[in-house]
Amino acid sequence: MMPVDLYKSHSVAVIGGGPAGLMAAEVLIKGKVKVDLYDSMPSVGRKFLVAGKGGLNLTHAEPFEQFLSFYGIRRAELEPILEQFGPDEVRKWADSLGIETFVGTSNRVFPVSMKTAPLLRAWLERLRNDGVNFNVRHKWLGWCENGSLRFETPDGERNVKADATVLALGGGSWRRLGSTGEWVTLLGERGVKVASLKPSNCGFDVDWSPHFRTRYEGTPLKSVILSFTDSKGNVFHKQGEFIVTEEGVEGSLIYAISAHLRDEIEATGKAVIKLDMAPGWSKQRLIARLSQPRGSQSISNHLRKTVNIQGVKAGLLWELVPKQNLKDPECLAAAIKELPISLNASRPLDEAISSAGGVIFEELNEHLMIRSLPGIFCAGEMLDWEAPTGGYLITACLASGRAAGTGVLVWLETNRE
Ligand SMILES: Cc1cc2nc3c(=O)[nH]c(=O)nc-3n(C[C@H](O)[C@H](O)[C@H](O)COP(=O)(O)OP(=O)(O)OC[C@H]3O[C@@H](n4cnc5c(N)ncnc54)[C@H](O)[C@@H]3O)c2cc1C
Repeated sequence: MMPVDLYKSHSVAVIGGGPAGLMAAEVLIKGKVKVDLYDSMPSVGRKFLVAGKGGLNLTHAEPFEQFLSFYGIRRAELEPILEQFGPDEVRKWADSLGIETFVGTSNRVFPVSMKTAPLLRAWLERLRNDGVNFNVRHKWLGWCENGSLRFETPDGERNVKADATVLALGGGSWRRLGSTGEWVTLLGERGVKVASLKPSNCGFDVDWSPHFRTRYEGTPLKSVILSFTDSKGNVFHKQGEFIVTEEGVEGSLIYAISAHLRDEIEATGKAVIKLDMAPGWSKQRLIARLSQPRGSQSISNHLRKTVNIQGVKAGLLWELVPKQNLKDPECLAAAIKELPISLNASRPLDEAISSAGGVIFEELNEHLMIRSLPGIFCAGEMLDWEAPTGGYLITACLASGRAAGTGVLVWLETNRE
């Protein structure tokens, strides 16, 4: 660790008070540098707090190799960062804040309280006690000619000189929580290459009829198998659940392959998923049961009594299968096992859980410093990676915040006069 007397005079700015920025501040303050954290909002960690609304999925307890595979094409860049601070370290860190975690369904890890608030409260208290100086209502506007940071504050513009800066400004979804993506222009003006921000873990538009929309909006489709083959022949297959929305579909099963669906729509104009609505049934068994005499029963009653298809699943058949096929057991069984649903567009970025795109890794060195802007580091969702929900997002944000904070300390050490 660096000698205290040399470093107490160094001042580092961390801009963005989400999980990535707060973790960078934690590393830096432990490294005995002066840390000022800035955020445009009246308080920090707003998206982190919202992430805890439905249960804060902090990380994932699965073999590390499998964990890494969820970072897709950016696995290679994130692997060394996650090796330093991966799922086990996230749980130990939460524990150090007095937050016990548990492994829930599908190996997802949550705080026992399920909420973010107790963790964030304990974390902010520790950071304040350790000496991090919080500056809220400070919106970063870029740099002055002399290299100082420019902030818009309620008292007018403030310019700040820092020895190094960590940018942890988030992606571009849920703008009202502070992550507006406006930094893309600021870095672009300095020649930093940024892959355009796109919705990730998002819903999709389906052209529902007014009748179907009114009847089933908000209804979950439980335990279905979703299959999707993209135009390059890549096949995806996963069991889970999702929700019918006013505009189309969303939910964990959709989020899990949203990146592929989004890319397919971008390439071809649409993505067709296929649903198996009776995973425990073979097609032959469905045909046999549906071939039983229907008598005077309605098709809906026949479906419910013979193969237990009812509610929104029956609604989807009425919505998407030609009427004459509903009377044919073979056609009906085929539709139950492989119902095609055409997705026409991703929902807008602002509605997405997270953003794909961001500062491309080729612009950064191994410490997440922008090569062309020495002393400026980046962390969190503003980097060009994406992952499904399941704790992969927060883990990589914390880990990259840690890597950037450590990088600053190494850089200050190397560049000290
Ligand atoms: C509804 C919802 C549920 C989620 N659930 C989960 C979950 O269970 N598990 C999981 O892993 N992930 C989840 N996420 C995703 C997770 O919350 C984000 O990936 C994570 O918060 C990103 O962290 P970050 O620090 O990179 O950015 P952010 O948390 O977005 O923080 C960025 C900060 O930068 C500030 N900022 C931006 N621009 C400026 C500027 N110009 N000047 C000053 N400050 C600025 C913002 O105000 C903000 O405080 C969820 C997200 C949403 C929306």
